[in-house]
Amino acid sequence: MSSKNSVMVFIQQDDGTVSDVSIELLSKARDLATQLRTEVTGVLIGDAVKAEAAGLVPYGVDEIFVIEDKRLKNYTPVPYTKVMVEMIKKHEPQIVLYGATTTGRDLGPRIASNLKVGLTADCTDLQIGDYSFKDSEYKDILYQIRPAFGGNIIATIVAPEKKPQMATVREGVMKVGSPQPGYKGKITPVTFSFSDADFPSEIIKRIREEKLVDLKGSQIIVSGGIGVGSKENFALIYELAHTLGGEVGASRAAVDAGFISKDHQVGQTGTTVRPKLYIACGISGAIQHRAGMSESARIIAINTDNEAPIFQIAHYGIVGDLNDVIPKFIKAFKAKE
Ligand SMILES: Cc1cc2nc3c(=O)[nH]c(=O)nc-3n(C[C@H](O)[C@H](O)[C@H](O)COP(=O)(O)OP(=O)(O)OC[C@H]3O[C@@H](n4cnc5c(N)ncnc54)[C@H](O)[C@@H]3O)c2cc1C
Repeated sequence: MSSKNSVMVFIQQDDGTVSDVSIELLSKARDLATQLRTEVTGVLIGDAVKAEAAGLVPYGVDEIFVIEDKRLKNYTPVPYTKVMVEMIKKHEPQIVLYGATTTGRDLGPRIASNLKVGLTADCTDLQIGDYSFKDSEYKDILYQIRPAFGGNIIATIVAPEKKPQMATVREGVMKVGSPQPGYKGKITPVTFSFSDADFPSEIIKRIREEKLVDLKGSQIIVSGGIGVGSKENFALIYELAHTLGGEVGASRAAVDAGFISKDHQVGQTGTTVRPKLYIACGISGAIQHRAGMSESARIIAINTDNEAPIFQIAHYGIVGDLNDVIPKFIKAFKAKE
């Protein structure tokens, strides 16, 4: 096989470490490429990042192009766009994927505009299928799936006429595949000649704010909704989360009501999570909330309304007042310990 027509991933690195979303995308690219009977390629841009590439091959990556230069250490739009555009023109992938991170959301549109191709932002799923329009039939097109119209519908977007088909994909939505240690993939250093004009901006200082909430990394999440009733009553959600060794999540309504800060929000406009256990307390289960947690391995819902939509996706449902149920949960768990 050749790298032409591949499924290509922009491999994002931050301070020399490959981002989680890039590994998620390489895993998804492997699935898509298998269906399309083609290769997975990746483009890794940075300074002294080649060693990182070896660890990615086992995710089923056939070739990783590595472009290194001291001035490429951190993302800046102009040189990264130049590299990606040239790599796409040279290798003619049929699909290119980017993480819907700050970097991917900046880079993707620049490349789309340069190549005059489409780009679907913030996808939550990608599939392969056929498409017909008027008299034209398109085989093996990328279905770019994402919530639309305020999350009230899930739209499938196609861009069949121009290649590559490009999408940014939300962090945390694609499952990381199991690495195959013996997978044979190439790491190909690529030399680029840059001029000073390719670096019109310079990063003088980077200020990073430490993340205080790690929803994505937590295997247990206890989330509270507006049904919790008050900021003070969120102490109950914290107590259950800490008892179970988990993190605290929230619905947007709870965030908007000022019960808890936005970095705890789960859902379409919050964080997408897939923990082993998700406990939804006083959350109705609106589609925008479910978009961020429905892939959790086990879901427990506590709600006074037995018709709340959250019960449609919950593996275990408890109809009751969270003020009664949660203390019993905590007591039972402590007794078991
Ligand atoms: C563009 C857009 C993006 C959005 N993004 C998000 C997002 O990222 N995340 C998100 O969560 N929402 C999002 N929303 C909002 C979403 O539509 C819902 O409004 C929100 O999820 C509702 O939050 P909730 O379940 O806490 O509140 P409600 O829907 O009001 O539900 C509260 C639930 O608590 C139950 N309850 C009340 N008292 C108790 C009690 N004592 N014990 C047990 N149960 C009780 C009630 O029966 C009810 O089911 C978005 C909306 C839009 C338009």
